[in-house]
Amino acid sequence: WAKGDGRGRWAVYDPERSARDSAAAALAAGLPLALERDEFTVHYQPIVALSDGTVCAVEALVRWQHPRLGLLGPDRFIGLAEETGMIVPLGRWVLEQACRDGSRWAREYPDTPLVVSVNLAVRQVSDPGIVTAVGAVLRDTGLPPKLLQLELTESAVMATSGEPVRSLRRMAALGVRLAIDDFGTGYSNLAYLRRLPIHSLKLAGQFVESLRSGDPQALVDERIVDALVRLAHALDLSVTAEAVETGGQADRLRVLGCDTGQGRLFGAPVPAEEITARLGGRDRSTTSAAG
Ligand code: C2E
Ligand code: MG
Ligand code: MG
Ligand code: MG
Repeated sequence: WAKGDGRGRWAVYDPERSARDSAAAALAAGLPLALERDEFTVHYQPIVALSDGTVCAVEALVRWQHPRLGLLGPDRFIGLAEETGMIVPLGRWVLEQACRDGSRWAREYPDTPLVVSVNLAVRQVSDPGIVTAVGAVLRDTGLPPKLLQLELTESAVMATSGEPVRSLRRMAALGVRLAIDDFGTGYSNLAYLRRLPIHSLKLAGQFVESLRSGDPQALVDERIVDALVRLAHALDLSVTAEAVETGGQADRLRVLGCDTGQGRLFGAPVPAEEITARLGGRDRSTTSAAG
């Protein structure tokens, strides 16, 4: 029957839903072997300074090169990995891979330091071994701590109290940057900004979406972005806008004082080699990639 809906109703058997559930169960069951067989890969999306288009960071985004289903995006399997606990070893693998790539870029292109930004799931943040793990990965890969940023969602932050808060403080003490991901879409209990050493806010794409002329939603969203940027700057936090797709959006965000932007306008997530190629090219600006 329909579980947990609290209404005690018998659900009608729905073959489509049941197929979806068993497909998800099969994917979830395949996660441990996939990790063992090295089927995951990390793509990187540039984060650029809105003032001059310089790439200052990249976000690490995991993909699963599934032997039968092809390249799967994280929305297909991260939730499953969180439910099964596989997110802890998978997240650790992503962190290692990202720090290894970041360390190589830092060595080969010392004049153009790139911050590598890695997403942390709730389960990872509340894992008591997280600080030791981050410290070990930094030591093993040689990535300078200031070139690592960890992205936490508001729900991850809200789920932290006690020990996890100490973990986040200890990670900040290592010199690692902390960012709030999808800012403005979670519980937005701003109290955490007072008790956590956060360095930046990533404005959720939904506030960026309407920032183009002619959209009736634009005025409201402009005011929201304006207020959030002021809040961030008043607290000495930098602001990254997510899902920037058009030049018009980038122009508005720049006028509103956003520091950095990320989105298809500046480049989609790409394999590490493509970031390397871009760093090796003389032109580090995004003008040639955008379009
Ligand atoms: P996120 O951290 O908010 O990452 C940004 C998402 O926006 C990425 O989706 C990116 O591909 C997508 N995006 C890029 N440019 C544009 C654009 O111009 N417009 C729009 N609308 N979207 C754009 P992706 O790669 O599918 O990742 C989805 C989510 O999966 C991420 O959202 C993140 O929450 C999660 N995720 C990805 N990798 C990891 C990981 O290693 N660990 C954990 N815990 N979560 C991860
Ligand atoms: Mg993120
Ligand atoms: Mg985000
Ligand atoms: Mg997200």
